[in-house]
Amino acid sequence: MKELLERKQGLHRSILIVDDEIIEREMLGVMLQDLFEVIYAGNGLQALDIIRSGVQKLSLIVLDLHMPELDGYGLLKAIRSDSELRRIPVIVLTAEKDSEVECLRMGAADFITKPYDAPEIIRARVSRSIELAEDSVIIHQTERDELTGLFNREFFFEYGKRLDAQNNHSPMDAVVFDVNRFRIVNELYGRPYGDHVLQTIGTTIHKLVQKTGGLACRSDSNAFFVYIPHNPDLSKRLPGVISQIQEAIGDPNISFRIGVDSDDGKPVCMEHRFDRARLACRKLRNTYATNFEFYDAELHSKELFAERLINDMDKALEEQQFQVYFQPKYDITGDTPRLTSAEALVRWFHPEYGMVSPGVFISLFEDNGLIHKLDRYVWDAAAAQVRDWRDRLGFRLPVSVNVSRVDIFDPTLARELDEILQRHDLTAAELLLEITESAYTENSQQIIDTVSALRALGYKIEMDDFGCGYSSLNMLTSMPMDALKLDMKFIRNIAKNPKDYRLVGIMIEIARLLEVPVIAEGVETAEQMELLKAIGCDIIQGYYFSKPLPAAEFEALIEKAQKEGENAHIG
Ligand code: C2E
Ligand code: CA
Ligand code: CA
Repeated sequence: MKELLERKQGLHRSILIVDDEIIEREMLGVMLQDLFEVIYAGNGLQALDIIRSGVQKLSLIVLDLHMPELDGYGLLKAIRSDSELRRIPVIVLTAEKDSEVECLRMGAADFITKPYDAPEIIRARVSRSIELAEDSVIIHQTERDELTGLFNREFFFEYGKRLDAQNNHSPMDAVVFDVNRFRIVNELYGRPYGDHVLQTIGTTIHKLVQKTGGLACRSDSNAFFVYIPHNPDLSKRLPGVISQIQEAIGDPNISFRIGVDSDDGKPVCMEHRFDRARLACRKLRNTYATNFEFYDAELHSKELFAERLINDMDKALEEQQFQVYFQPKYDITGDTPRLTSAEALVRWFHPEYGMVSPGVFISLFEDNGLIHKLDRYVWDAAAAQVRDWRDRLGFRLPVSVNVSRVDIFDPTLARELDEILQRHDLTAAELLLEITESAYTENSQQIIDTVSALRALGYKIEMDDFGCGYSSLNMLTSMPMDALKLDMKFIRNIAKNPKDYRLVGIMIEIARLLEVPVIAEGVETAEQMELLKAIGCDIIQGYYFSKPLPAAEFEALIEKAQKEGENAHIG
């Protein structure tokens, strides 16, 4: 627990010295003022006023026994009988041997004899009493992360807040370290290696915090939180910190990202500070080199915008501000492309912001559970549309809906989907389900179970954004699915870059191995479409055929398909 005190170096704790003899208390104060903020009181009553006015802030009380008004014994008794105050350690000043025993019996933490010993001794006794008192509070909570020895998240926040109170909210910076693609590190090199990486980062961060003062914790599997005294030059220091950690790990394949919320003097609670650091960190999500980012005005306005969207969501559902658009998918295996299904994509027509794209709000809603409501709404609207086209136009067109990674954990998922089918009298084959590949890799077993159950009920599953989730070939063969949907970033450059084209070829071969059709999305040009056709891609979705359209406009595509004498078959 010695490190606990070291961590706190540079941060001031407050000590109350209670003595009626001015010279004596000044002498003591001088010995301690380098390490602590010293407050004085001339008698027990004055002291009690000070103590009661700010319980949080005192780390220790040094108490003379003989004083007018309320003496040391009386004050000690008052402190010990107050459940709030009793956590503050008290050191008693005494000249008589006899009273020492009495004081210890009454709950004093220690005593200092007059005349005073050498200042070092006094400082050591004071520090040790504070340390013991704080540790006894701390020890009750299982405060440490076993793997790294750093604090765990709960304790980190609790202690950080106490630290803030003790330091009169002196400026602090919030820093988040996140290991890039940590799951893949575990997957490729094994868990022990992953643990080793985390330990190394933990140790290096620990050393850093020992130097600067402050606190550190491992907040979840691969993220570290660091709360340190504000440094206006942090951006200049971070590269050094980065190379220190990188050197300690000694593996260029491991990279991490750092997000910082630098103290700007505005009062924001500690949790929120770390949310902001996280936001900054998230900006680096798709970069794979080590880098850092600060929370800034731009992120702040984004944050406000996000809050606004979250607040407006319920009302938006009520007022039907969400609309479902449809983008066609064409089967290109025959001579002419054949309309085979459509993807339902949600749009938000916000009264103030106009059309907001799902790229903006889906991940927001995933973070706080709102996605559950929105997805049900979209699925139901999509199903209603399938039914409407069947009834009104006599055309059976299956529609695929996006199933969020969050939905996978919902035990009522299958039941809710079934209710939707029943409500609109559809079969499971008419409502295709798109699930992003990264949901598969994030939680393999859960998703295998969920998807297997859905398939047993007749649902067809399309693995979305294939190529972004880093599935190994080995994983893929055990992942249940009915189609592979290549992520559009692989399609973008196939006409210009032979390497990209070859990569798509490999992915199509993987689909052959898994015996599922391949869907390419984001196809914008005739050239891309021909190239894809040439290497055996089955289905195409993209601006080349059509942008996502409101249902009414989409009907033109249905009518065209009907004229061409084609009708979609239920798969
Ligand atoms: P996604 O599922 O990968 O959907 C494909 C995205 O690519 C859509 O963006 C679509 O409009 C766009 N796109 C289609 N063809 C082209 C093209 O040729 N070129 C380019 N550049 N883009 C094309 P959108 O509609 O903005 O949706 C973004 C993402 O939001 C979707 O990605 C999906 O992950 C999510 N999403 C959309 N609607 C829903 C929903 O109802 N529920 C859930 N959970 N997620 C949704
Ligand atoms: Ca999709
Ligand atoms: Ca996609």
